[in-house]
Amino acid sequence: MPRRITPRSPADARWTSLFATFQGRTAPDTLSRVPDSSVLNLVNGQMTPARGGRTLDLIEPATGNVHSLAPNSNADDVADAVAAAAAAFPSWSAAPAPVRSHLLIKLADLIDANLESLARAESIDTGKPVSLARSVDIPRAAANLRFFARAVLDVPVEKYDFDGAGVPGGVPAYNTTLRKPRGVAGLISPWNLPLYLLTWKIAPALATGNTAVCKPSEVTPTTASMLGELSIKAGFPPGVLNIIQGTGADAGAPIIRHPGVPTISFTGSTKVGQWIAETSGPMLKRLSLELGGKNPFIVFDDADFDAALSNAVRAGFTNQGQVCLCGSRLLIQEKLHDRFIAAFVDRVRALKLGDPLDESTQQGALVSRQQLDKVASYVDLARQLGGKVLCGGSPPAAADLPARCRNGYFYLPTVIAGLDPACRVEQEEIFGPVVTVQPFRDEAHSLSLANGTPYGLAATLFTNDPARAERVSANLDAGIVWANCWMVRDLRTPFGGMKQSGLGREGGMEAIRFFTEPKNVCVKK
Ligand code: NAD
Repeated sequence: MPRRITPRSPADARWTSLFATFQGRTAPDTLSRVPDSSVLNLVNGQMTPARGGRTLDLIEPATGNVHSLAPNSNADDVADAVAAAAAAFPSWSAAPAPVRSHLLIKLADLIDANLESLARAESIDTGKPVSLARSVDIPRAAANLRFFARAVLDVPVEKYDFDGAGVPGGVPAYNTTLRKPRGVAGLISPWNLPLYLLTWKIAPALATGNTAVCKPSEVTPTTASMLGELSIKAGFPPGVLNIIQGTGADAGAPIIRHPGVPTISFTGSTKVGQWIAETSGPMLKRLSLELGGKNPFIVFDDADFDAALSNAVRAGFTNQGQVCLCGSRLLIQEKLHDRFIAAFVDRVRALKLGDPLDESTQQGALVSRQQLDKVASYVDLARQLGGKVLCGGSPPAAADLPARCRNGYFYLPTVIAGLDPACRVEQEEIFGPVVTVQPFRDEAHSLSLANGTPYGLAATLFTNDPARAERVSANLDAGIVWANCWMVRDLRTPFGGMKQSGLGREGGMEAIRFFTEPKNVCVKK
C-alpha cells in the first residue's frame, strides 16, 4: 500500500505548508518542480517524505539561502526501500532485456523533454553554471540511460567448445557462462555531477535486471527526486527504482549495512570509500568504489600550445574545479614553462565568475560553505608553505557579484606556483578552483611528479610526438589517460581509478560484469 503523505513533524511548519503540493501526486503530466518546492523519496513507486517526517534544509550555494527541503531519511526508510526492491526483483530480472531497455529509453526521453527544468534545478542545487548543466550534466544523464539500454541487448556470451584435451581426466563438453543480475543494488552518489553520476549507476544496474536503492548526495538531491517522478511517468514497476534522500550517516550507512543489498556502487570521497570497504568486507558484498583524485596535466615542449592551453583551463576549472577528473596539478616542461604559465594565468583571470543562473557565467559558486572553507584553508596553507599565488587566492569582492549572490559561496579561480611537490597542497585533493603548477625537465621527471601522489584516477598529457604519448601514457599511474584532449568520454571504455582513487571499474562491459553474477554451465558432450 502506498504510504499517505502527511506532515509527521508538526514542529516543522515549512513541511506542513509544502506537503499539500505533493499530496496524491504520483505521475504528473509535466514536471512542475520549482526551486521552492520540496524534494521527496521514491519508495515502491510512490513519492514520499521520510517516515519520521524529518527534513534537511537545502541551501542554494549562489545565495547562501535555504531554497528547499529534502527528506532526512534513516534506516527505516532504507528498510522500506530494500523490501520494495527485493519484492520487485523476481519479475524485473525475469523481464526480457528489451522490456527493461525500452523503459530506460523512455526515461531518457523524459529527461530530454524536461531538460530546462532539470538543468535549472541542478544549477540551483550545486552552484554550477546553468549553461554547463544544460549542455553537459543533463544530456549526459540521458545518454547514460540510452547507452546501457542498448548495450544490454548486445552482451557477448562466453562459450567454449572443449575437446577434453590437455586437462588430466578431461572429457569433451560445452561451456556457457550465463550472467545473472545480483539482486538489490545500493547506488550512492556525490554532489558534483548529481544526475549524471546517479544515472551512470542506475542505467547498468537496471538494464542488467537488478533493482536499486539509490542515495543521492544530501547536498544536491533535487534532480534525483525529479528523476523519481519521471520514472513513475515512464512506467517503471513499483520497487524497481527507489531513491532515499538523507545524510551519509543516517541514510547511506544503512544501505551499506543492510544484508539485503549484496552489491554496492559508490562514488565519493576516498575516506568514505575506505569506511564502506571496511564495513561491507565481512559481509562479502561486491563493491565498486569511484573515489578522489589529484590529477596531473602534463604539457611537453613540443605540444600544440593553444590546444594545451585551452584544455588546461577547462581541465582546471570546469564546475569550479569540482570534477573528480579535473587536472589540478599542471606540470609544464621547463622551456615552455614561463610562457605557458603567463598565458594560463591570463586566461584564468578572464573567466567570468557570477550568478550560475546567468547564461554568460563560466564560474559559479562552490557547492557549500564547508567546501568554500576547505578551499580557502588550502590556499592559506599554500601561502604559509611559501607558495606564490599567481591569481585568485580569495573570494571575489562583494561589489563584483550581483546583489542576490553577495552571500554566496564564491571563490576566485586560483593558480599557485612554487610549492614543494611533496607538500599537502600538492598531495591532497582540494576539489575546488585551485591549480598548482610545477616545471619539469624531461619525461622521467614528468612521470615522477605525475605519479608522486597517493591517487591514480586520471592523467592528461599534451605532446606532438606520438611515440612519447604512447610511452608516457603506458607509465602513468592512472585508470584514465587522455593524450591531446581532456574529458573525451566513450561510454564503452573502462572508467575508474587505481591506488587511493578506487576499486574496480565502471563503464561499458565493466559495468555489465559488475552488476551480474557469472554462472558457468558445463554440459558433457
Ligand atoms: P562523500 O564521500 O562525502 O559523499 C558521497 C556520497 O556518500 C554522498 O551521497 C554521501 O551522503 C554518502 N555517504 C557519506 N558517508 C556515508 C556512509 N558512511 N555510508 C554511506 N554513504 C555515505 O563525497 P562528496 O563530498 O559528496 O563528493 C566529493 C568526492 O567525490 C571527491 O572526493 C571526488 O573526487 C569524488 N568523486 C569521485 C568520482 C569518481 O568517479 N572517481 C566522481 C565524482 C566525485
